[in-house]
Amino acid sequence: MKRLHLFSSPYAVFGTLMLITCVTEILVMFLLPSLFPNTEGPILIFADSFLLTALSAPFGWWLIVRPFRIRALKESARADAVLGSVVDAVISFDAVGNIESINRAAEQLFGYAPREIVGQKMELILPGLAVGCAGAPGELGSLARCKDGSSLPVESSVSRLDLEGRRIFIAIVHDISRHRQLAAIVEEQKEFLESLVQQSAVPTFVISPENEVLIWNRACEELTGLSAAEMLGRDEPWKAFSAQKRPVLANLVISGQVEQAEEGYSFFGKSSFIPEGLQAEGWYGDLNGCDRYLVFNAAPIRNNRGELLAVIETLEDITERKRYQEQLEYQANYDGLTSLPNRNLLGDRIRQALLISYRSHQEVGVFVIDLDNFKLINDTLGRDGGNTLLKAVADRLKGCLRSGDTVAHQGGDDFTVVISDQSLSDNAALIAGNMLEVIARPLRINGHDLVITASIGISIAPKDGEDVQALLKNAELAMYRAKEQGRNTYQFYTGQMNARSLARMSLEHQLRTALQREEFLVYYQPKVNARTGSITGMEALVRWQSPEMGLIAPDTFIPLAEEIGLIVPLGAWVLRAACAQNMAWQDAGLPPLTVSVNLSPRQFRQQDIASLIEETLTETGLDPRFLELEITESMVMHDADRVTAVLGSLKRLGTSLSMDDFGTGYSSLSYLKRFPFDKLKIDKSFVRDITCDPDNAAIAKAIIAMAHSLHMKVIAEGVETKGQLEYLRSHGCDEMQGFYFSKPVPAPEFERLLREQSLAAADLTEPAPGRKLLLVDDEERVTRALQRLLFSEGYEVLTANSATKGFELLSLNRVAVIVSDFRMPGMNGAEFLGRVKELYPSTVRLVLSGHADLDAITQFINIGAIFKILRKPWRDDEVRDQISAAFSQYDLLYGEDPQAPHPSLHS
Ligand code: C2E
Ligand code: CA
Ligand code: CA
Repeated sequence: MKRLHLFSSPYAVFGTLMLITCVTEILVMFLLPSLFPNTEGPILIFADSFLLTALSAPFGWWLIVRPFRIRALKESARADAVLGSVVDAVISFDAVGNIESINRAAEQLFGYAPREIVGQKMELILPGLAVGCAGAPGELGSLARCKDGSSLPVESSVSRLDLEGRRIFIAIVHDISRHRQLAAIVEEQKEFLESLVQQSAVPTFVISPENEVLIWNRACEELTGLSAAEMLGRDEPWKAFSAQKRPVLANLVISGQVEQAEEGYSFFGKSSFIPEGLQAEGWYGDLNGCDRYLVFNAAPIRNNRGELLAVIETLEDITERKRYQEQLEYQANYDGLTSLPNRNLLGDRIRQALLISYRSHQEVGVFVIDLDNFKLINDTLGRDGGNTLLKAVADRLKGCLRSGDTVAHQGGDDFTVVISDQSLSDNAALIAGNMLEVIARPLRINGHDLVITASIGISIAPKDGEDVQALLKNAELAMYRAKEQGRNTYQFYTGQMNARSLARMSLEHQLRTALQREEFLVYYQPKVNARTGSITGMEALVRWQSPEMGLIAPDTFIPLAEEIGLIVPLGAWVLRAACAQNMAWQDAGLPPLTVSVNLSPRQFRQQDIASLIEETLTETGLDPRFLELEITESMVMHDADRVTAVLGSLKRLGTSLSMDDFGTGYSSLSYLKRFPFDKLKIDKSFVRDITCDPDNAAIAKAIIAMAHSLHMKVIAEGVETKGQLEYLRSHGCDEMQGFYFSKPVPAPEFERLLREQSLAAADLTEPAPGRKLLLVDDEERVTRALQRLLFSEGYEVLTANSATKGFELLSLNRVAVIVSDFRMPGMNGAEFLGRVKELYPSTVRLVLSGHADLDAITQFINIGAIFKILRKPWRDDEVRDQISAAFSQYDLLYGEDPQAPHPSLHS
């Protein structure tokens, strides 16, 4: 290559050649004489020229011919490589169609080696190429034939070339079979996609950017009742949905003009899924024979350059769902019976009216209408009759008002009318009067002619309130006032209306519905054994959980309930709840306890109180002995005969009776004696200052003693302090109840108290002062058993195994009650107690004996040495009762001051 460059200049080549020729000529001139010494003349000249030519010719070839040849070879190789690398087949041929050369691609495409084809006719490969046409170069599409006989779709072009005065043709042949395949696949895919849309169960149509319908699928035909044949190629998809021309969603996607589009739909907006998409929904009347609620979704289809190809719109028929939803909405806002707006919608309507009135300076009147004595009519006519009546009233009210006014049914027999008007204050009386008149027109229901009247309360915004709540409340208060004024009348709300009486009226109104609305609860407060601190029972105390006013204590509503008679059903409900709860606790395996239920005077006067209680016990399955009825002292003050009879019947059921709030009435004990009370409950007003007011203390003490003397147990209520507890305990009070132990609590909490026995305050392990008892028996087994029993009852128990030991203990301790066995070595029990009587007359003495000893004991009973005989073998509960009675006896006779020395009978 380098050398070629060196001699690339013709001057250099020429110079070099000259130099070589000269040198050769010199060489020849030297050589000739020695080669041909005797030769001269023309032969020598001939030899000279021959040698010169022979020696310099190779240099000439090397310097001139060889570089040209190399260059020519390279050019040819490059041309071959270029042709070879062309992917299309290239064939050259002459003017008569004889092939002169083919490239590598042509070899591969047609399967010929160059030597096989060169010289053959072009028609062999391209039969469609008439030799005549070969004169006219251009594009040709046809079939080519291969060596193996197969045909190939090709595109070929022929160009003409004049080379060195010779005309040749170059054909470039492009194999288009692959291209054809791809086109077929694309076509197939297109068909597939189309049929996908076509066969889809989702009603779908597709329009072109020119708004022509391209696809109107089968489901769409089905839904709209319009066939694809009618729709395809036209720009009238709207025909399916409306009578007049108006763009469908897909048209809007194309035009982008969405401003006024909303009008035709219940909902219209941007698609939540697809950018640029739109969605809308609405009712369409008579769509293929039905009213339907449709949801539309339209989305553009773009190619990857972003050009719009079409818009696809899908339709969904959600008529069923919509109907259901509308029904739910209706139910939430309308009253099923009268089809009037209910309380819910009423609030909205008033709010709306207030908003409008604010702008237009109108007044808004709220008329609360309550039918008079509806309950009575309802009871007489039955539920259906009552409903018919309510519907009639609803129709009458609607009939006498303008169409823009609202009549709502708040439930029960309450209607509310809302009216907006410029001069309402002037017209309201007229309107109310008119309503009263139409309501009171005679009515025939189930063959009964009846007249119903109503009471109307009116409040007018803005003067009587500026919000829904205030207007309704004030109209309601005015309505109560109308009721109070004898019904069948109307009242305007006035600021001066007596707030208290109105509050009471509204309380009464709410109380009446509270029972149906299940707003009452029962709380339980434990009763505690005064000696042991264990829970012995509970009092059921009712509470009212009002949604408007919160938790309300019985003192607020019991007197009112009593007055309006509601106490009867309420009391029955509490009784049932308490018995059922007590039964449930027993069923749950908790220790059986007595539940006390308060009876109100009105309940007590009720005809069938005993049978109500009996039924309740049967229904709930509670054993009567676990039910205690609390009856206040005042309830038994009059009509002693009836009271005796009722109490007797209650007692016969097996329930126990407790005299409640004792001390607040003025009944004498002698009066009480004739009633079969088991228990007496000292009112909390005495307990409150028992530790500081000597009068109250004395009364409490006297009550305990009196009750014990009448064989009644005593319970103190309202025990709040340790001091009160100790005083009552030391004076022999049997049970206690009060905040000191626990407040009244809801049932689950009470259950927890029971399970945990967790009245921390009631830890009464310290025996009460003055509760000392002496046990004398030589048998240790007996003393031990009795000691355990009595200790658990809260007594301090001393034991002696002989009379001697007994005397000793008596001298050291202030003992209240003595229990002595009869059969003892040395001195028998009766003799022992006889001696004790002399020494310590204030003690209460019991003897423990079997049947056989009765005669020996009788004489000691007669002299008052023995208070009671405890039988051997004993029953625990009997012993408990007898000992309790003995202590009561002790308290009654000598118990003023437990700390004082033994008083003697004679002093
Ligand atoms: P009540 O029968 O004298 O019931 C005892 C009241 O004293 C209860 O009030 C109780 O919570 C409260 N109390 C308990 N321990 C203490 C204490 O240590 N200190 C003070 N200051 N108070 C204590 P409550 O539950 O408010 O009941 C009030 C009254 O309502 C009851 O007085 C009873 O007459 C009546 N009541 C409650 N429930 C019913 C019921 O179901 N039917 C009837 N007819 N009357 C009920
Ligand atoms: Ca009570
Ligand atoms: Ca009480």
